[in-house]
Amino acid sequence: MDPRCRDRGCEEAFCHEDAQLRVVGEKNVDHEGLRLWSKRAADWAADYHAGLRDRPVRAPLVPGAVARALPVTPPEAAEPMEAIWADFERIVPDGMTHWQHPRFFAYFPANAAPASMLAEQLVNAMACNALIWQTSPAATEVEQVMMGWLRQALGLPEDFAGTIHDSATSATLSAVLTMREQALGWAGLTDGLAGAPVLRFYASAETHSSVDKAIRVAGIGQANLVKVATDSDRAMTGAALRAAIVADRAAGLQPAGVILCAGGTSVGAFDRIGECIAAAHAEGVPVHVDAAWAGSAMICPEFRTLWAGIEAADSIVFNPHKWLGAQFDCSVQFLKDPGAQVRTLGLRPTYLETAGREEIINFNEWTVPLGRRFRALKLWFVLRAYGLDGLRTRIRNHVAWALKARDQIAALPGVEIVTEPRLSLFTFALKDDAATEALLQRINDDGRIYLTQTRVDGRFAVRVQVGSFDCREEDVMVIAETISDLLA
Ligand SMILES: *Cc1c(COP(=O)(O)O)cnc(C)c1O
Repeated sequence: MDPRCRDRGCEEAFCHEDAQLRVVGEKNVDHEGLRLWSKRAADWAADYHAGLRDRPVRAPLVPGAVARALPVTPPEAAEPMEAIWADFERIVPDGMTHWQHPRFFAYFPANAAPASMLAEQLVNAMACNALIWQTSPAATEVEQVMMGWLRQALGLPEDFAGTIHDSATSATLSAVLTMREQALGWAGLTDGLAGAPVLRFYASAETHSSVDKAIRVAGIGQANLVKVATDSDRAMTGAALRAAIVADRAAGLQPAGVILCAGGTSVGAFDRIGECIAAAHAEGVPVHVDAAWAGSAMICPEFRTLWAGIEAADSIVFNPHKWLGAQFDCSVQFLKDPGAQVRTLGLRPTYLETAGREEIINFNEWTVPLGRRFRALKLWFVLRAYGLDGLRTRIRNHVAWALKARDQIAALPGVEIVTEPRLSLFTFALKDDAATEALLQRINDDGRIYLTQTRVDGRFAVRVQVGSFDCREEDVMVIAETISDLLA
């Protein structure tokens, strides 16, 4: 021990030098300590993943249990990492819902492929802020190239350019703001909306609540989001959309934008993409397509008929962080005319200028936040480590296994399929809502699988979606097995 430390009577783990407190050793983490703890974290991660099937998928829901295990006041003195780690192991994992569990069939997945986790560790180590090109040229340029790779992977034409947002909610908000400003000739940015004409947007009731949120936050007002009626397949048709736009115009309102649903969250609904875009464009209205979940499936050419006509869209969002394995957060927006969005969201104060380098892209001008993470690295790792072929095989398996699970569940007494599989998503129910709700509760308390609910024409239904990166056919077969056990 440093004699000066002994003189001061301080703890062994600390060393006072020149009146400066330096934290040393493994107990109090510096970068050498991080080296050791990172290795331990890597081992923990591998063991955690290997043991996932033995854990209940959904956390046991006891509100307040985790909070009560933590002290109410912050520590004044530094604590050894050994103690922090022990508390983590004791308190956190059992309080988690395990999104990477191979039998997670709830919501939509938030897949994290091992190669993605590795990339995130490297990003974590560099801890950059890629707000403009010169603050991390590699982050910007890898993102540009990955957007080209993904565009080709989805079979989209060359006239789309892409960027990465944190979430589809942000991408849709950006698209709505851009369509708003296009309609206002960019006067809203300077003059506000008080004297502006009433702008109208159009979407079906199958679109995600993020569309409603974007409309509210953008100052359009929920009342000006027209929910266009859908056909028997829960699809908005070109004719219905055009009629809604024409009626508004006749009433003196200004149609400003359309948001189409390509794989709805409830039951996987798809609007008639090609005919709706044609109808909107015939009326001079731009179109944003929400394919947050289903977009990943479009790496398989056989599924592209679901969004036939997509090449005419003005903006598309899809989340590689759902079904592709590039972990949360990674939401990609493709744009026909990035200039319109940059004109809406881009601000360039003097301190963000890059002297003499105007050919470079500053991606913050395409998105709402200024700061941005290096999200493209995980796409680079995932696309290379599994190849499009490997990623397609996973998605095709999920779709095939979902069909099998559907048939097994349909054969159970008293169970009805409410909506047929759309890609890997379908719903089922018992005769009455109360019984279905009680069954869902028991399924999730059981812990072998995790399912969530929706309402289909008012009826309570249980959603089954197959999409976990590591799930195997036998995991999917546990769905019907569990339901059968609980109904017996
Ligand atoms: C998940 C989802 C969203 C929201 O995605 P975030 O990235 O969480 O904002 C929006 N639309 C659809 C269709 C989705 O499935």
